[in-house]
Amino acid sequence: MEKPAVQRIGVFTSGGDAPGMNAAIRSVVRTCLHMGIECIGIRRGYHGLINGDFMPLNFESVSGLSRRGGTMLYSARSEDFKAKQGQERAGATCKLLGLDALVGIGGDGTFRGLLCLAQQGLSVIGIPGTIDNDIACSTYTIGFDSACNTALECIDKLRDTMQSHERCSVVEVMGRHAGHVALNVGVACGATAVLVPEQPIDFEADVIEPIRRARLAGRTHFMIIVAEGVQGGAYEVAKRITEATAMDPRVTILGHVQRGGAPTARDRIAATYMGYEAVRLLAEGKRCRVVALQGDEYVNYDITEALNMKKGLDPQTYTVMRALTGVK
Ligand code: ATP
Repeated sequence: MEKPAVQRIGVFTSGGDAPGMNAAIRSVVRTCLHMGIECIGIRRGYHGLINGDFMPLNFESVSGLSRRGGTMLYSARSEDFKAKQGQERAGATCKLLGLDALVGIGGDGTFRGLLCLAQQGLSVIGIPGTIDNDIACSTYTIGFDSACNTALECIDKLRDTMQSHERCSVVEVMGRHAGHVALNVGVACGATAVLVPEQPIDFEADVIEPIRRARLAGRTHFMIIVAEGVQGGAYEVAKRITEATAMDPRVTILGHVQRGGAPTARDRIAATYMGYEAVRLLAEGKRCRVVALQGDEYVNYDITEALNMKKGLDPQTYTVMRALTGVK
């Protein structure tokens, strides 16, 4: 094996936590050991980097980690890091610890932060970890599958009670400004209607008509899935359903429960591959990249290029959703 281009790297998680982040940390650490690179864990994202909050990581410290939800390194959002002074303090921590590279697991904000540190001479690699699946350069982000499965499990349970009482249920799922979770969960649970922020909403055609069609077909309960990014959210949707139909819908906001739980096989595998890829790129001397999945292939992009990319909803899934909910 050739001598790796880096000797000691720091790994951290940042932004919203996601199931599978632990599997990525484990993979980074074990790949480092395999390649003869030292690995240090930075706790609490950029906040920890500014404050020198770190822990040594070895084979034992990541044992059994793949199946655990959350992140053993904790996650945080740091306003201080957005200022030049914070970035300089973070750079100073890296110097003090003798780090020549960083692997940051998180979303777009985390990658922007990495760019600032690359400007100070560090080699940096981003790994897409967010339940929202809203990172443009990658068709998949760590945590998405687990979050969809958690939401689905909750909705299946909700449906049992809604069905018994012949009610209309309006469920808000996470996703920030994106509708990937809502769309996929909506398709998977057989929703009556699905509302996402990426598309303009014609309330009559997209919500009321599907409810009416389902009612005429004999249905007495309805499941409306709303992405959190839709203006007004689930309460506004429920209000408009009441105005249009005189029904009394029940609102459920699934919230942070979607971020928890053990990662699914898909997330553990994606996280493990991405962790491996991150270290492999650093060992080869790559400097400012994001690991990504495109189709079945793990690829990587320059961070600036990745941040300039745009991502919409998967058009095939969107078409299927519209067909199944009967929206023209
Ligand atoms: P998620 O998608 O889960 O929200 P994220 O990585 O996008 O993840 P952010 O809160 O946007 O989450 O970013 C994480 C951290 O990255 C911020 O708290 C901040 O410290 C740093 N960061 C974000 N944007 C910038 C920026 N433009 N320049 C420097 N650092 C940034």
